[in-house]
Amino acid sequence: MQGSEHSDVLVMGGGPTGTALATALARRGLHVRVVAPHPPTPFPATYGAWLDDLPGWAHGCAAQVWTDVRVYTGPQPTPLHRPYALLDNAALLDTLLGRADAGLEWTVGTVLRTEDAGTERIIHGVNGERWTAGLVVDASGHGGTLTPTAYPDGPAFQTAWGLTARFDRPPIAPGSMSWMDYRTDGTADTPPTFLYAMHLGGDRYFVEETSLIAQPGVNRALLEARLHARLEAAGTPPREILSTEWVAFPMNGAAPAPAADLSFGAAAGLVHPISGFQVATSLNVAETLADAIHGAILAGTDPVKAGWAVLWPDSRRAAREVHLLGVRALLGLPADALPEFFRAFFQLPPAQWQAFLDPATPAGPLARIMLRLFAQAPGGVRGPLARAALAQPGASVKALQAAWRGAPQVQNR
Ligand SMILES: Cc1cc2nc3c(=O)[nH]c(=O)nc-3n(C[C@H](O)[C@H](O)[C@H](O)COP(=O)(O)OP(=O)(O)OC[C@H]3O[C@@H](n4cnc5c(N)ncnc54)[C@H](O)[C@@H]3O)c2cc1C
Repeated sequence: MQGSEHSDVLVMGGGPTGTALATALARRGLHVRVVAPHPPTPFPATYGAWLDDLPGWAHGCAAQVWTDVRVYTGPQPTPLHRPYALLDNAALLDTLLGRADAGLEWTVGTVLRTEDAGTERIIHGVNGERWTAGLVVDASGHGGTLTPTAYPDGPAFQTAWGLTARFDRPPIAPGSMSWMDYRTDGTADTPPTFLYAMHLGGDRYFVEETSLIAQPGVNRALLEARLHARLEAAGTPPREILSTEWVAFPMNGAAPAPAADLSFGAAAGLVHPISGFQVATSLNVAETLADAIHGAILAGTDPVKAGWAVLWPDSRRAAREVHLLGVRALLGLPADALPEFFRAFFQLPPAQWQAFLDPATPAGPLARIMLRLFAQAPGGVRGPLARAALAQPGASVKALQAAWRGAPQVQNR
């Protein structure tokens, strides 16, 4: 459907974050145009999230929720006692679109660039289209389009190869999900990869060989071969493969500098640098961001500035420095130390490891959690962690200063 060429807000991208923000803005009475290379289509990736990270309205979009959630850093599982959800992407899209009012217009196209025209922005499409809007939001995914993400240490990637399949014998405990399974038969430890897996019901399982973060990223052929070798070695090869998935995205983006257009979602560096999670964050933040944009437009103030202030306040920029220090430490660990690192990580009080994975945790508590992790990590992990910190004295000093600044402690749950 084509309407007027001008909108209050033009959102580039029809992924979960672009759609969440566009529909939240339309619900507030703004005229919003989504420009994406495709019509509204269920998001193609397998999205998981901690149930308590999702906004309440999205709980109804869970295809499945597991309470038996496990991590293996050795032969015995560590139960995580935190329900984990698989999103039903068609339900999520329908729910988001159903939450928008008439003010949403979806245009199939690809944005090339934007231009300043005084009180409005001119947006150019790759096929010569021209739209105008009061505000442009780049939600075009990892790396961004209008404001490319900076990777000061060069991009480090999360990669994974997964498949949904029928199995004669269960590859994981029926009824469970394995958030991270670092067990190997000892023959293929480098580079380190783990199994992320879910029982989908009956004889169907989703199994994915994952490299949490690597520079350069672990390639697809190796992950695919390792997944099949792992399943064969366990005596649980798939009987019938129903679908496959390739995951690859950069993890260690710097906090973006505020720019002439706003960005959101993966394009705004919101991917968590340690876990790679982002979808739940964006579904939550879309509402606050929409309020800030709407409020600024009503008040006649700058919605770009208001938006960047919501997404990247100084406290979150400081927290990103601490997370990037953690990324450098992870990248510096020898392959066989990773399971030990995560054993120590999941031995932290649940409130602390959960806070470490929470994008909203300020730098002070984050740095304290890292120091505690350092203190209780075994010697084989501590040395490489210390070397990683010392290799980046600027970032380390900032992180440590933040730790002692007296920010509130994270309480144990
Ligand atoms: C396979 C995979 C699995 C993942 N699993 C999880 C998970 O389980 N949990 C989690 O939290 N995160 C996960 N992530 C990480 C991340 O959260 C996702 O990448 C998420 O899709 C990012 O959402 P987004 O809307 O910001 O970007 P995207 O989903 O990448 O959407 C970008 C949109 O912009 C459009 N676009 C691109 N360029 C332009 C342009 N120039 N003009 C207009 N439109 C454009 C695209 O067509 C698309 O519609 C996963 C990533 C991948 C790749």
